[in-house]
Amino acid sequence: MKNIRNFCVIAHIDHGKSTLSDRLLDFTQSVNERERMDQQLDDMDLERERGITIKSHAIQMHYPHEDGEIYTFNMIDTPGHVDFSYEVSRSIAACEGALLLVDATQGIQAQTISNLFLALEHELEIIPVLNKVDMETAMIEEMADQMIELTGCSREDIILASGKTGIGVPEIMKAVVERIPAPSGDPEAPLQALIFDSVFNPFRGVIAYVRVMNGELNKHDNLRFIATESVYEANEVGAMEITPKPQDKISCGNVGYIVTGLKTSSEIKVGDTVTLEDRPGKRLAGFEEVKPMVFAGIFPLDNDDFEPLRDSLEKLQLNDASLVFEPETSAALGYGFRCGFLGMLHLEIVQERLFREFNMDVITTVPNVTYRVTDTKGNVSEIRNPAELPDVNHRARVDEPIISAQIITTTDYIGAIMTLCIDKRGTLTKQTYLSPERVELHFVLPLAEIVFDFYDRLKSISRGYASFDYQPKGYEETDLVRMDIKLNGENVDALSALVHRSKAEQIGRQMCKKLRELLPRQQFVIAIQAAIGAKVIARETLSAMRKDVTAKCYGGDISRKRKLLEKQKAGKRKMRQFGKVEVPQKAFLDVLKLD
Ligand code: GDP
Ligand code: MG
Repeated sequence: MKNIRNFCVIAHIDHGKSTLSDRLLDFTQSVNERERMDQQLDDMDLERERGITIKSHAIQMHYPHEDGEIYTFNMIDTPGHVDFSYEVSRSIAACEGALLLVDATQGIQAQTISNLFLALEHELEIIPVLNKVDMETAMIEEMADQMIELTGCSREDIILASGKTGIGVPEIMKAVVERIPAPSGDPEAPLQALIFDSVFNPFRGVIAYVRVMNGELNKHDNLRFIATESVYEANEVGAMEITPKPQDKISCGNVGYIVTGLKTSSEIKVGDTVTLEDRPGKRLAGFEEVKPMVFAGIFPLDNDDFEPLRDSLEKLQLNDASLVFEPETSAALGYGFRCGFLGMLHLEIVQERLFREFNMDVITTVPNVTYRVTDTKGNVSEIRNPAELPDVNHRARVDEPIISAQIITTTDYIGAIMTLCIDKRGTLTKQTYLSPERVELHFVLPLAEIVFDFYDRLKSISRGYASFDYQPKGYEETDLVRMDIKLNGENVDALSALVHRSKAEQIGRQMCKKLRELLPRQQFVIAIQAAIGAKVIARETLSAMRKDVTAKCYGGDISRKRKLLEKQKAGKRKMRQFGKVEVPQKAFLDVLKLD
């Protein structure tokens, strides 16, 4: 145990975590050149393109230190986005130390701070690393001062590094041995292993990543997963180097993987404790059932694709236990699914994976958060769908989820960000200067307001110089209404939205205006209306089309005329019909980009 070091790398998105992790791997020559890809730690295409790490991984390295001993390093990669913060907290709980990586051209950002606080809560030893020092725009001394201020470290503690050139990598390896404590734990005690991640492998089933806190985990042990109350034999256990290396056991204090043979990821819960069936240990602290926060309907573009869509969602769920779905019907869109996501990024990822991996073209309805509705008899239920909101006579109160948010920005943008957050029904609770130019703002905000165009607006008003992070903070009473969109009097249920009463008119007006731009002109006038119940709160009119598209062919050229008509027909397949009005798929996707 004394030669084991378990650590994670915490950083804001794009501060160079994946690049530096690759460098550390290169350094210990764990990397077989043939297996090497550009960014080994991000193994999904989508991750590579977006430059984010969706699933965390644990990589084991063997490092010969100058004291003549060989050390086993378990480096745990953590996801870098707010939607996945529970996974980050479990990865941190599996470690004794953390590399706190800060981009020397960017400085401390919202996620640097929230992840640092998580690490400090778990009493991790922090190694401050200032990254990208090779860049001309690096402001080393200024950023070092920020880190000292934030962590209370001294200037000598800070390692200057570059994942690009490899500067600082030997110093980091040395610091991991010398500054991060070896794990403690009792090898003789009953087994307690923390699951901090799981992945689905089509050939092997679910693979769980664990950190053994006490006892040890042997191949062929009968394992009990405490939260799911299931018992399985460990078919294979081992250490994850770049490829899996099967072993006889995972020793006390160490990190490894278990091939469970389970067929769905929902049978393994991140944060759960693995113990032995015949000598059970207690559940480790900190387990939480991760609940989806944002819901939206997902409908196939073509009604015949309902079953294939179900198939695709089931396959996605195999390696994404936080995705939930159930069948839903819409008068406008037919059969589809109501899906639950951890947040907006998670929703986007699912939508994109459906398209790329399964070739599924889908329509996503207006997303909403979950609301708690108390009826007149005092019964509380959760609603996930605009159609489920009981009318005013049948509800006593509605509560909505609240978050506590941190935004870090430069002083120039404080005013604009305050205006945005207040418009989003937020309250400023704290304002801290990190340096004369940089400020950390704390807000309490309704989660529902983040779901509507928050990120885009924050980004545009701050020209990208603002970082954002949040944590859930319970529920508070709200004044909720359902806003419907009507086309020539016909309700388009897929465009209904749950909104705060004070926002209904503004959002209604924006949606109508946007729809007027998005809908193609048709043979007749179209009235676009937003309404609460019978009361119309906004209205736009789209005038009729003037000319027949084939008119410009002068009658003579038959083949050109046919081509045009065919093109029109193909376009129609991407349309949805409401009464007589046709709505293109793009309208459903773009109507929420309100500006
Ligand atoms: P992550 O989101 O924290 O994993 O960040 P990545 O490792 O994906 O890096 C984000 C971007 O910064 C990529 O374009 C990298 O090529 C670049 N980058 C990472 N580390 C360095 C560095 O040390 N120096 C320079 N110049 N660029 C870097
Ligand atoms: Mg990364």
